[in-house]
Amino acid sequence: MSYDESLSSDQELERFMNGLIRRNPGEEDFHQAVHEVAATIIPYIHDKPHYRIPHILERMTEPDRIVTFRVCWEDDEGNVRVNRGYRVQCNNAIGPYKGGLRFHPDVTLSTLKFLAFEQTFKNSLTGLPMGGGKGGSDFNSKGKSDREVMRFCQAFMTQLSRHIGQNTDVPAGDIGVGAREIGYLFGQHKRLTNEFTGVLTGKGLSYGGSLVRMEATGYGAVYFLEDMLKEKGTTLEGKTAVISGSGNVATFAAKKLMALGAKVVTLSDSSGYIYDPDGLTEEKLNYILELKNVRRGRISEYAKEYGVKFVEGKAPWEVPCDVALPCATQNELNKEDAEALVKNGCIAVSEGANMPTEEAGVAVFLAAGVAFAPSKAANAGGVAMSGLEMSQNSARISWAEVDLNKQLRDIMGKIHDTCVLYGREGDHINYVKGANIGGFIKVADAMLAYGVL
Ligand code: NDP
Repeated sequence: MSYDESLSSDQELERFMNGLIRRNPGEEDFHQAVHEVAATIIPYIHDKPHYRIPHILERMTEPDRIVTFRVCWEDDEGNVRVNRGYRVQCNNAIGPYKGGLRFHPDVTLSTLKFLAFEQTFKNSLTGLPMGGGKGGSDFNSKGKSDREVMRFCQAFMTQLSRHIGQNTDVPAGDIGVGAREIGYLFGQHKRLTNEFTGVLTGKGLSYGGSLVRMEATGYGAVYFLEDMLKEKGTTLEGKTAVISGSGNVATFAAKKLMALGAKVVTLSDSSGYIYDPDGLTEEKLNYILELKNVRRGRISEYAKEYGVKFVEGKAPWEVPCDVALPCATQNELNKEDAEALVKNGCIAVSEGANMPTEEAGVAVFLAAGVAFAPSKAANAGGVAMSGLEMSQNSARISWAEVDLNKQLRDIMGKIHDTCVLYGREGDHINYVKGANIGGFIKVADAMLAYGVL
């Protein structure tokens, strides 16, 4: 593709997206994630030929490497099962590939390419030396026994282990990959290689994990929200919060919101949402943690236990609130949802999940002056803490909870500052633009330093 100086930013964006869609047919999530970035980066580099001429953005959208493999395992009845495994190694310009593993029946290559691309910008924003990657499988752990999950994880790692390493690629958890799965995956890697290294993060505390890792994504999304509200001259005290999801990110976001004086009135899972107008309490949150992590039950059971409303098949965006945190999955908040939130008085949105808001929904928030934190900034706390877990593993030390919490708070504050620096538009902050440009510059400069690779 040659460089054409006569094109306007809009024409350049159109040409760029046409090429990307042609090269990656049918990968709609990936197209969406790239478009969200390109729409702010192309105008930014329009008058910067040192980024434009060497086609840095084109190179960033072509992953360094993609590995796919068969994962063959036996269920409890002795039936042979076959799943597909993936690892997308997107960009290692500023450090080893780093990003989670997702086990969910909806996982496709497109999902993982979008997540790996986003991860590259997110990891750059943390200021830590981590490249971007993502992996996973279409394996569905719902209804599987612990032994079946173990056999699947062992089979998955047997293949994945050829492609990862503490200096090469360091996976972590994501949807469907929590403490149980990380334990099985790490154990199998150790058995295969006869090495105890920090090849995964999100590990248990007894085998090299870091304090605060479990909490970090949810806490970080709330810290970012706190900073956005401060910028608007207000705080979380007394605010009503609506959250989707009831997994790792959602539950710890809820915990931190409560600690900072907000009232959390919803949580959800893929079957619907609960609305508790009195708000969650510590006791209710402990019930959810046990329900989801030990009994692996459904959120509707909370409604029965506490006599509140369960709304089947819907996300919670129709519930009036001051702040909203989508913490379940991608594209769970559309244009109509965004309009409902704005109409009901929502002033800030912090994305705990990856790309949970459709582009048309983002446009509604930006037009209405809602402080909107895109996932690559808002949920970077998890991978930041993973970076700190890698540092602790390399040095064979463990840092104290209070120090890690402070580092997490500082990192989220710095990401907010970066977004303000690159996203200020008059008296408004465009956090989407700020996060994209802030994440882009470091990776782009490293790529330029390496020449044509
Ligand atoms: P979990 O597996 O712990 O929880 C996922 C939650 O989302 C569950 O409540 C699940 O419900 C719900 N969910 C999943 N798919 C859907 C769907 N299609 N529709 C509605 N609800 C759905 O995952 P995490 O909390 O770890 O991850 C949540 C989001 O946060 C993801 O986007 C992930 O990429 C992102 N993230 C996670 C990080 C981490 O550190 N864990 C770091 C950065 C981002 P159900 O049980 O019914 O499936």
